[in-house]
Amino acid sequence: MKVNFFDLTEQYKTIKSDVEKSILEILDTQRFVLGKYVSKIETDLASLCGSKYAVAVSSGTDAILSALMALDIKPGDEIILPDFTFFATAGTIARLNAVPVFVDIDKNTYNISAKEVRKHITKKTKAIIPVHLYGYCANIEELNEISREFNIPIIEDACQAIGSEYKDGRRAGNLGLMGCFSFYPTKNLGGGGDSGAVTTNDEKIYNKLKQMRNHGMEPRYYHSFIGGNFRMDEFQAAILCNKMPHLENWNNKRRENAKLYKKYFQEYNLIENNSIEFTKNNKVIIPLADQQEYHNLHIYHQYCIRVQKRDELKQFLADNEIGSDIYYPVPLHKQTCFNYLKRCDDDFSVTNAVCNEILALPIYPELKEEHIKFVVETIAKFIKK
Ligand SMILES: *Cc1c(COP(=O)(O)O)cnc(C)c1O
Repeated sequence: MKVNFFDLTEQYKTIKSDVEKSILEILDTQRFVLGKYVSKIETDLASLCGSKYAVAVSSGTDAILSALMALDIKPGDEIILPDFTFFATAGTIARLNAVPVFVDIDKNTYNISAKEVRKHITKKTKAIIPVHLYGYCANIEELNEISREFNIPIIEDACQAIGSEYKDGRRAGNLGLMGCFSFYPTKNLGGGGDSGAVTTNDEKIYNKLKQMRNHGMEPRYYHSFIGGNFRMDEFQAAILCNKMPHLENWNNKRRENAKLYKKYFQEYNLIENNSIEFTKNNKVIIPLADQQEYHNLHIYHQYCIRVQKRDELKQFLADNEIGSDIYYPVPLHKQTCFNYLKRCDDDFSVTNAVCNEILALPIYPELKEEHIKFVVETIAKFIKK
């Protein structure tokens, strides 16, 4: 049985005629940038997140970049972020000549450790960027405490977390001063290319972001500050508008798939009551989202397990026509481009361990139970051989 790591074709069939209609309509009207679909996706996203405003932009990366620019981040300013995330969270900081201050993660959730954040606050700290990794909200309660105590704003990197909820019911994107989203095709809500958005409840920030995405221009050809071309095009927005009504259902399906994984891992005796240690009876560490104390609502952008001999397992799965992937194999502090920061490897013991053990399994909504069973069966075969 072949199990693709990811497959958008099944999903597309369910929306194909609607998407085609709106794409043709855009071609007929020849209105390509910042038109009615862009306005609609902004309204839809703000309403999904429960935030007042959303500003559509050109990518998740540009969402983070414009959020930082809206805070007027200057060279030498320090921005705290997790060591374990996609590169864009750090790259945007460095591009403004600010200093990315990596901190270690929490070993239960793989999200930024609030305790570590506190240790790294200095007079130069200008923002904290928690990443809701894999679609599971970071510990926002403690981060907000730090934010209030030191008067440092929080920018959420919610690129993997559209529709996910913190345990108090608030949604990702509505947990800090700004929330950044990506609509890259493989995200839970993905367009037909690159796009993204920033959410906020702050009217001043909202107006600044809108101006920011168009070279800081207001009125036309007058520039009071420097922005960029961070505009979203109508084709992206139209695809997103057509997909948005399905998002909740798709996220639910991912959650159901995660439950099935747990069921089969239990059936094959690979896990022991939500343990995060490897033991004789605990060969696989599954996401702990279902446990009482971690009851945020997960949207499973990725379903990541931890295993020993990860690289061998990945190969074994590939030999059995099962796709898997590694998010992320190298921590940010070890990236060559960040050597100049001279960070000490010992400060990142959790990230270092997780990078060697993490493995993402197929989780997309259209995956069938028989696929999940086969994936777990194959993992069991590998571990017991
Ligand atoms: C995808 C992603 C981004 C960047 O989004 P793009 O749309 O690809 O620019 C940033 N941060 C995280 C955590 C992501 O997963």
